[in-house]
Amino acid sequence: MFDGKTACIVVVGAQWGDEGKGKLVDVLAEGADLVVRYQGGANAGHTVVTEAGEFILHQIPSGILHGRTICVVGNGVVLDPDTFFAELDALEQKGIAVQGRLYVSERAHLVLPYHKLLDAAGEKSQKIGTTGRGIGPAYEDKIGRRGVRVSDLRDPAALEGTLAANVDRANRLLQLAGMEERTSLAEHLALAERIAPRILPLAADTGLLVYRSLRDGRRVLLEGAQGALLDVDHGTYPFVTSSNTTAGGAAVGAGIGPTAIDGVLGVVKAYTTRVGNGPLPTLADDAREELLRQLGGEFGATTGRPRRCGWFDALVVRYAVRVNGLTGLAVTKLDVLDTFDEVPVAVAYEVDGERLEEMPCEVRALEAVQPVYETLKGWQRSTAEARTLADLPRQARAYLDRVEELSGAPIRYVSVGTHREQIIAV
Ligand code: GDP
Repeated sequence: MFDGKTACIVVVGAQWGDEGKGKLVDVLAEGADLVVRYQGGANAGHTVVTEAGEFILHQIPSGILHGRTICVVGNGVVLDPDTFFAELDALEQKGIAVQGRLYVSERAHLVLPYHKLLDAAGEKSQKIGTTGRGIGPAYEDKIGRRGVRVSDLRDPAALEGTLAANVDRANRLLQLAGMEERTSLAEHLALAERIAPRILPLAADTGLLVYRSLRDGRRVLLEGAQGALLDVDHGTYPFVTSSNTTAGGAAVGAGIGPTAIDGVLGVVKAYTTRVGNGPLPTLADDAREELLRQLGGEFGATTGRPRRCGWFDALVVRYAVRVNGLTGLAVTKLDVLDTFDEVPVAVAYEVDGERLEEMPCEVRALEAVQPVYETLKGWQRSTAEARTLADLPRQARAYLDRVEELSGAPIRYVSVGTHREQIIAV
């Protein structure tokens, strides 16, 4: 996608996450000088398979697997220090050199142990189906103007005051929620002391780094986590994540202006999955759901939870095209549909005899809809070896044509397997 006019590209999930963004970022990172994560935290899990083995990355951009790419954890991310260092160590153990290639925004907020306790307390009453990694409470602190940023590690005395107030507040909230666990200032001070010498050398004004890179003609990839339908504003609220996953969030979370972005690639599965709670209108019947789950390996990369599986939902993707301003689509996991004799696609919803063409705002409304399906012929042949559109069975091409037409954005990539080379550039 990078060319003379396209230097800054955002990759976003255009469904409910787990679309295979990691693989697309990995493929695009080949042509990128910089890869930036702009939101989310250790609740995201990208799986990338390379010659060196399988990597599951939660916080470090998967671009790190390319030898020369600079990777940035942007200001919009909430950083869990221990998971971050565990990932760093795992990369180094597999021979991936990260020295001088990884930066963390000094404006990024930290996820602290008390956030995880508060996350568990919140789930007791709210049941959003979060990953329990403390992401939501860390964003609450950020918006509540009491969060701890990476740069705060530079001033231990001031940090102690913030931590004391936050720990005290967390303990009161835990008590209110009827939780037995309590957190302590000592634990948090020890953590800060332990992580500061390792994080601070990586800390930088990363917005400036991205700005200068673009000014100097370098190519930048902004990597989103989760998906459009999990965006705190545009998703199926309240069953959403706590950040703006959509392309607008990329500018804010990377620290650049929106006019710096030249293209937005939306990653979609050839079907639909959802992990966590909240409606999934195109959920398949039990037998075919199980088949999709097994063939697609639809178990969460972060939690191992089975994902709910169903058919391609054109309303979801059309909506994602609109709220992200998608300039292209990458359709992944086409191969997962290889054995089906027919493949339904939802083209509209119906509720009380009325036809809906656009996503409703309320979760309750979405729970009440019945998808209107169009059934396309399956191809019942392997697509795993296809490297051009012409290599695909006729019915698979017809399926992609229909997906493109219903979504309203051109397909730029089709992925037909987990490996790097199993991709078709359109
Ligand atoms: P992400 O968070 O959007 O990167 O998605 P995940 O990493 O959670 O899930 C994507 C999973 O699908 C990973 O296990 C990938 O290896 C796998 N995957 C990606 N593209 C394809 C594809 O085209 N076909 C198949 N079968 N698997 C794929």
